[in-house]
Amino acid sequence: MVERIFNFSAGPATLPDSVMAEAQTDMMSWKGAGLSVMEMSHRSKEYDSIIKDAEARLVRLLNIPDTHKVLFLQGGANTQFAMIPLNFLADGEKGDYIISGEWAKKAHKEAKVVGKQANVVASSEDSNFSHIPARNTWNLSSDAKYVHYCSNNTIYGTCYNELPDFGHNNVICDMSSDFLSRPVDVSKFAMIYAGAQKNAGPAGVTIVIIRKDWAEKIGTPNLPTMLKYKTHFDKDSLYNTPPSYSIYICGLVFKWIEEEIGGLSKMLELNRKKSSMIYNAIDNSAGFYKGTVDNKNDRSLMNVTFKLPTPELDAKFIEEAKKRKMSGLKGYRTVGGIRASIYNAHPLKGVETLVDFMEEFRKTHEKEANA
Ligand code: PMP
Repeated sequence: MVERIFNFSAGPATLPDSVMAEAQTDMMSWKGAGLSVMEMSHRSKEYDSIIKDAEARLVRLLNIPDTHKVLFLQGGANTQFAMIPLNFLADGEKGDYIISGEWAKKAHKEAKVVGKQANVVASSEDSNFSHIPARNTWNLSSDAKYVHYCSNNTIYGTCYNELPDFGHNNVICDMSSDFLSRPVDVSKFAMIYAGAQKNAGPAGVTIVIIRKDWAEKIGTPNLPTMLKYKTHFDKDSLYNTPPSYSIYICGLVFKWIEEEIGGLSKMLELNRKKSSMIYNAIDNSAGFYKGTVDNKNDRSLMNVTFKLPTPELDAKFIEEAKKRKMSGLKGYRTVGGIRASIYNAHPLKGVETLVDFMEEFRKTHEKEANA
């Protein structure tokens, strides 16, 4: 048995053991084909079955309607930040952005970098993104072509636990850090996108679910071929060589959610269970651990952020946790403290180990914190 640590990293993140095991079995010879998926032509019938299977599983998992299509792209969510305004805004047209964290802010900034008009609907930056901007503070523009938001703020540990009423038909969502963590009504979106490396698979593939009418839009003249959604849409994600191995692993992860977990409602149940174990440990610590999120309704199920009484204790906590085989717990530099990222595949045992350790650490250090 290989010894594995509990990986609390914000991404790339833990993959399910059964996915790793199947990939290992398939490594030298995929299903007896005599070659690895890494060595296969992306035009071969074997690979065609792999990418089609991955897509079909995703369609089933998210109940993706026929009005939408799945694309497997490259360049990470960061490339989407540019592609969205380049494709969906013509000169003089505007996108609305809700700024609930660092990534949402970057998406807005990139729209400006590519020379488009991007309006800030609401921002929680004044409070260091410790909450989701309340719906009644949003200043939507009447003529925006789309509203862009980020459903889970990886750095700040906040998320939209309910889908707000956007008052707009064309909602675009960066779901990088909570994709496939819960059921989603895809019909409500013009586009959803997510880097795979947290919940869906390894880095290298960016999953896009686009409404078909939107895939036809090319808002900017002379847009490079690779930056047009239409290019990838027309060629079923095979215009150029796709990140073929990453897509294969995503397919195995989708299979794991479908067949071992039992779908996205079950996934959500498990994610609620895991995250509430840590939130309870915070809330029942008599103030030793403090959550960094203002409002409990905004707490993320994926990234749990909290602080100890001093930065010295934060550092000690991280160091001691490492000795117990828990890694990746350091909070992002703009927040500090601890961030426990517990994506879909992070095992319950990892969360139990963390919660036990939190209790033990608190008992040992409570007195010095109060001294
Ligand atoms: N959006 C969110 C919500 C993220 O968490 C991240 C990565 N941590 C990104 C965008 C950037 O993704 P990528 O590295 O795939 O460009």
